[in-house]
Amino acid sequence: MSERIRVLQDIGVRVWVSRTSPVDEQQPTARATVAAAGSAEETAQLDWDGIVYRASRCTACDLHRGRTQAVIGTGDRNADWMIIGEAPGAEEDRRGEPFVGRAGQLLNNMLLAAGFKRPQVYIANIVKCRPPNNRDPRADEAASCAPFLRRQIELVQPKMILAVG
Ligand code: SF4
Repeated sequence: MSERIRVLQDIGVRVWVSRTSPVDEQQPTARATVAAAGSAEETAQLDWDGIVYRASRCTACDLHRGRTQAVIGTGDRNADWMIIGEAPGAEEDRRGEPFVGRAGQLLNNMLLAAGFKRPQVYIANIVKCRPPNNRDPRADEAASCAPFLRRQIELVQPKMILAVG
């Protein structure tokens, strides 16, 4: 076992293993919701300022009702690694930054074990607005927000995406 894997296991991070099943295709209902998010085609053309501006005013799903602010992302926009979590929690909603607090500390430690510092990666969530009571985002909410994440991935062009949460 490598030192890196040992450290990751010591801090409670499950080591990634390859999936054998292909990624699910978007369901038709999800595609319809993406369209309802308001011109996914327009979102696909946004620059970073446009993503921030538009997501901050987005009302494409009910999650906008409970947000203090949209949590877009943080870190190096040209990073090789992109970390994608589920949704902002209370602290993230308050500070406008993903993965802060205990989850953020765990992520920082995990990155250090992998030889990275937090500013060297780009961190975002599937949905940009905090779900009520910190519940998991629903599939329709994730679908509504997908154009923003998809555009972020296009702009960062990471070599690796790490999905966490
Ligand atoms: Fe819009 Fe995404 Fe917020 Fe829903 S979670 S309101 S789609 S920015």
